[in-house]
Amino acid sequence: MSNREYPLYTIKNNCLDCYKCVRRCPVKAIKIEDNSAQIVPELCIACGTCYKVCPVKAKQARNDLTRAKHLLNSGKDVYVSLAPSWITEFEGISSEQMIASLRRLGFKGVGETAVGAEEVSASVAKILEQNSRGLFLSTACPAVVEYINKYMPQMSR
Ligand code: SF4
Repeated sequence: MSNREYPLYTIKNNCLDCYKCVRRCPVKAIKIEDNSAQIVPELCIACGTCYKVCPVKAKQARNDLTRAKHLLNSGKDVYVSLAPSWITEFEGISSEQMIASLRRLGFKGVGETAVGAEEVSASVAKILEQNSRGLFLSTACPAVVEYINKYMPQMSR
């Protein structure tokens, strides 16, 4: 996986080699290579801590705009799964305006992310019904999901 395929990456020339990110990474997923602190994707859980603590913004989040444009130009039907939190980023815009804008951009349709969340909740309810004892964790946090998948795979379903 190349550096910029992962959600977070290092701008090598900006890195001051200060070790702040190395010290704060909860899973020790940063290595020093060529005098800069590089994220090791296979170990990283994408928690964003290094992004927050870097004093010179050497850690950056991948921008997926180009990927989205590429998808829209591919001729395939592309749909948006719109999380309810969109409203915090686009104050004063109604749902109708947002949907119309996305369709004008070329998206075939817009659905609510909550639809997926309902499916997940139904599956979790089923698991809990079938298991009267035990500790179960269900989360929408991608960092926690990555942590379980990479560091506790025996706990993953
Ligand atoms: Fe470590 Fe989190 Fe940065 Fe990944 S995103 S390298 S887990 S601090």
